[in-house]
Amino acid sequence: MTADLIKPQAVVCLLRDTLRLADNPALVAAAREAQRLQALLIPLTCLQPNRWAAEQFGFARAGPAWQRFRMESLLALKADLEQQGSTLWTAEETLSQALQRVSASVEVCCVVTDLPLATEERLENAGLVSNGYRVIALESAELFDEAQLPFALSDLPSTFSKFRKAVEKKHTLSPAAPLAVPRLSALHKQPWPDPLEYLAQSGAQALQTVSHLRGGREAGLAYWQGYLESAALSHYKETRNAFEGLYQSSYLSPWLSHGCLSAREIWADVLAYEAQHGANDSTYWLRFELLWREFFHWYSRVSDATLFRKSGPEAREVAGDRGEKRLQRWVAGATGCDIVDASMRELVATGWMSNRARQLVASHLIYESGLDWRLGAAFFEAHLVDYDVASNWGNWAYIAGVGPDPRGGRVFNLEQQAARYDPEGVYQRRWLS
Ligand SMILES: Cc1cc2nc3c(=O)[nH]c(=O)nc-3n(C[C@H](O)[C@H](O)[C@H](O)COP(=O)(O)OP(=O)(O)OC[C@H]3O[C@@H](n4cnc5c(N)ncnc54)[C@H](O)[C@@H]3O)c2cc1C
Repeated sequence: MTADLIKPQAVVCLLRDTLRLADNPALVAAAREAQRLQALLIPLTCLQPNRWAAEQFGFARAGPAWQRFRMESLLALKADLEQQGSTLWTAEETLSQALQRVSASVEVCCVVTDLPLATEERLENAGLVSNGYRVIALESAELFDEAQLPFALSDLPSTFSKFRKAVEKKHTLSPAAPLAVPRLSALHKQPWPDPLEYLAQSGAQALQTVSHLRGGREAGLAYWQGYLESAALSHYKETRNAFEGLYQSSYLSPWLSHGCLSAREIWADVLAYEAQHGANDSTYWLRFELLWREFFHWYSRVSDATLFRKSGPEAREVAGDRGEKRLQRWVAGATGCDIVDASMRELVATGWMSNRARQLVASHLIYESGLDWRLGAAFFEAHLVDYDVASNWGNWAYIAGVGPDPRGGRVFNLEQQAARYDPEGVYQRRWLS
């Protein structure tokens, strides 16, 4: 064999939904593995056709708001990696094709990535293993490692309340301290044209944005710093149900979903805030909400493919069809129910909708429009800037009564809700006029 045919060894760190250098367990493990093997470390991300260019139930899987936030986050990540002497390699094909492309210039000895969150990622990781890759998968998006949970995953509590109580009862259980940025080895630019460069110029320009929602870690940290300084956290519990308004709820979900910020960092900052400014129901409540996210992440893993079937993880037969006209009215914000129509128009125009509004439009789709809940979940997937597979499909299944709800579904009184949370009708007028 001639010297120029000997390829350098490389550890690939596959960055899926953890787009940051700090508190990134997979990146830390990949850097350590690369050092141990004296191999290159290649941070790789894939703009996979099954996500970026596919449809489900007739809706795009990655809509403009999500794509834009993702692009901003990837470009910011690339810049952060370059500051460390490394860079980000980006491929537009499936993961296995991307790895073949990478293998043209290096010998991939290991792939390190996040613990799969849902079926697609699980199958993808399984495919890597069957193609002969050594795969290391680590919890990167959660507060707790599986080993820390006070129960075996097969015994995951059936409801959020039981989950939360089990977690809170174990006093020794707290999220590990966020990890520092690891030392990264030098890496040259990817040996094929970078799709980020031309994608950054195109797409999603027509979308109105919620002005403070900009992708990337720096933007997320700056926003979060402003939130903490405003002391909004001390009143969070009273304001978080509002339909709109800066700092009414935390607005952290886009940065958490794209992995620009980690839940453990937010948790640690809330504890530090409590130590400095005092703890109250509101400061606790943000951590309570992060536990909802945590619950849905583990619930998604346990449910696997059942999360996406109509009868859901709980295997309950529910009504709901695919009536095209009713669906179009819901999608267009033309149901005749003002709070639903205003919320749907906001979602389509901006990619954002408050938690309260998400519950109300879901209730309408399922119980008033009589549609299959998965149409709503797919539409949200196409439009939410903060789309997260576990939180989205888990919440939809919950409201539809096929998920982890002890009451077997949630039907909201829409008029009462609108009167309570938008008493002057300001939010509704903004989007209906
Ligand atoms: C039908 C439906 C679909 C949803 N789809 C998504 C989704 O795709 N991505 C997503 O991140 N959230 C989703 N949620 C949960 C929730 O609505 C959003 O996380 C929240 O509105 C984001 O705003 P915020 O960051 O200001 O949240 P806050 O109310 O300030 O909460 C703080 C954080 O806690 C977490 N959180 C709060 N409520 C929930 C919840 N019910 N489930 C899971 N995590 C929660 C989020 O990470 C959030 O950023 C959905 C809820 C419903 C009812």
